[in-house]
Amino acid sequence: MVALALTVTNHLLIPVTEVKGIGEKIEAQLNELGILTVQDLIEYPPYRYEDYRLRNLTDVRHDERVTVQGKIHSEPSVMYFGRRKSRLLVRLLAGNILIKVVFFNQPYLKKKLEVNQLITVTGKWDQHRQTITAQEWKMGVSREGDSFQPVYALKGDVKLYEMRKWIGQALIQFGSEIEEILPETMLKQYKLYNRKRAFKALHQPQNEIDLKQARRRFVYEELLLFQLKMQALRKIEREQSGGTSVSYSDERVKEFIGSLPFQLTSAQTKVVNEILKDIKAPARMNRLLQGDVGSGKTIVAAIALFAVSTAGLQGALMVPTEILAEQHANSLFELLDPMGVNLALLTSSVKGKKRRELLERLKHGEIDIVIGTHALIQDEVEFQNLGLVITDEQHRFGVEQRKVLREKGYHPDVLFMTATPIPRTLAITAFGEMDVSTIDQMPAGRKKIKTYWAKPDQLDRVLIGMERELQKGRQAYCICPLIEESEKLDVQNAIDVHAVLQQHFQNRYKVGLMHGRLSSEEKDEVMRAFTANEVQVLVATTVVEVGVNVPNATFMLIYDAERFGLSQLHQLRGRVGRSDHQSYCILLADPKGETGQERMKIMTETSNGFELSERDLELRGPGDFFGKKQSGLPEFKYADLVHDYRALETARQDAVEMIQSRAFWEAPEFQKLRQKLIESGAFEAQSFD
Ligand code: ADP
Ligand code: MG
Repeated sequence: MVALALTVTNHLLIPVTEVKGIGEKIEAQLNELGILTVQDLIEYPPYRYEDYRLRNLTDVRHDERVTVQGKIHSEPSVMYFGRRKSRLLVRLLAGNILIKVVFFNQPYLKKKLEVNQLITVTGKWDQHRQTITAQEWKMGVSREGDSFQPVYALKGDVKLYEMRKWIGQALIQFGSEIEEILPETMLKQYKLYNRKRAFKALHQPQNEIDLKQARRRFVYEELLLFQLKMQALRKIEREQSGGTSVSYSDERVKEFIGSLPFQLTSAQTKVVNEILKDIKAPARMNRLLQGDVGSGKTIVAAIALFAVSTAGLQGALMVPTEILAEQHANSLFELLDPMGVNLALLTSSVKGKKRRELLERLKHGEIDIVIGTHALIQDEVEFQNLGLVITDEQHRFGVEQRKVLREKGYHPDVLFMTATPIPRTLAITAFGEMDVSTIDQMPAGRKKIKTYWAKPDQLDRVLIGMERELQKGRQAYCICPLIEESEKLDVQNAIDVHAVLQQHFQNRYKVGLMHGRLSSEEKDEVMRAFTANEVQVLVATTVVEVGVNVPNATFMLIYDAERFGLSQLHQLRGRVGRSDHQSYCILLADPKGETGQERMKIMTETSNGFELSERDLELRGPGDFFGKKQSGLPEFKYADLVHDYRALETARQDAVEMIQSRAFWEAPEFQKLRQKLIESGAFEAQSFD
């Protein structure tokens, strides 16, 4: 299949100086903007548009920018002040309203603006004085083509009007050379502008619809190319990374599922099947499992790990904190020990001889399943035959750590689990090369957590509510916010609240304290005491955010709740509501801004994590969703992940089908797309030979 070599000539890959009016000086300036070729110039996207549509002045608000056209109604009068300063005033009949137009520092207009002359003016509207201060103007009335004008990101001396002019000139000279890259059938199917027309409309839109169509085409093109790249990577990962077919025992897996104290929900059954199918397949699994807090992911992980162990392979479960590692180890032990599986817990607190022994046993395959923190991916840890790695709450692991894990030399199947529901658009973008399984259902019989928003001055009443739960034998969490810049302040917060509550509950109830500064032994002890109900109230920083499971806790109080994002609040809230008892979550907050108040309202109304994550995305935007450090999101020129989700879904589906189809790799109509794919660096051209 040598047709894939880059033999195609592209007539637009020529220096910008080929455009009339662009000399070496301008070329240098354009180079600064990353524009080297005529193609770069034509593909330089406007980042917004100036609106020159004509409007009725009665609809325009004070200080708004507006474009009007009309007939000059009076001789211009000029006033001079200072050496070079002047103010020219003229009356204009715009529609049937007589207004004033002011031009600063253009005294020469006095000769040009004659009575009855038609003119178009853009400027700021002063409603009280019925005056427009002109920013732009031109003789005559505007053509339709002026309704929107592109605005480009510029540097140095380049002026906006020049940029518009050069791009216009490039389109005149080379517009006919713009080549389509999407197959004709696709343009028809989606009623998309062809590339030529789309660039014309992008830079010189006739009207709003024309502009929308141009954007629509480029959004789709951009998302399709991105998804093609992701799907191609996925194909390569699966087919070329030496995965093995794991023949686990169907019967033993069934037996294990039958031994559980409950029936799997149908959503759990669905994802278990997806995962088992991947494990059995010769290709390597690279899958994201998402499910709301409490949807029962742990058991799904246990089934997958068990399946692999029945094939004589080892499994590893990695979690972000030691507390969580211990909890998981405990619950997996309960489930899997009766099945004759050997489990081990490996954290940084396993030291010395004990550690050496454990590592030895892992290396010789005497341990089937190991549970630990990221200490697990340190070099010293060797496995005999690692078949499956599961990471829980994966977004807390860096992208790099994810990669280390995949490349550990064993080519295991990899399953990433997350309890932070990720909006689908972000999931298929940031994790586009992965398969996604979703548990979209809660186990039966769960009660909805009653969530209330209280102001700080209502704390007394909140504490009365808390005590009512404690009297029933239940337990409570009090969470203090994490201040990223200052862990110190953070801990201080928790310490203060702890002191206040200790004072409040006196000898009636025990109040524990948990924060990131404690040693892991101290943390263990606090957690153990809380789990054993020796401590009834646990004051904590967000250390308890992920995964902690104390079903007897039914009351969650979150201080300064406005500091948290929706997804995080939802995570915290998920620490309660883990039993048949009614649970409560109180958000103590006094948000000043509108979005803060909006967030509190949303929390009291919505208990579905996926819905919350979508709202979070709307409120915070894609960049903030994953936190600053490791968003892993690509930057798009045209597409917007919040608003273009439908296009994203379509592009994704199309890309999946294309990559799987023979036609995509062979048919001439896909030639240009294949070429783009190679240019994107997704893989080497030879991969297809
Ligand atoms: P998460 O998805 O947040 O990790 P867990 O796996 O911790 O949730 O499950 C939460 C609780 O629900 C656990 O106590 C677990 O035993 C229980 N659970 C899981 N699946 C089911 C089910 N199908 N029916 C009833 N309870 C279940
Ligand atoms: Mg979990």
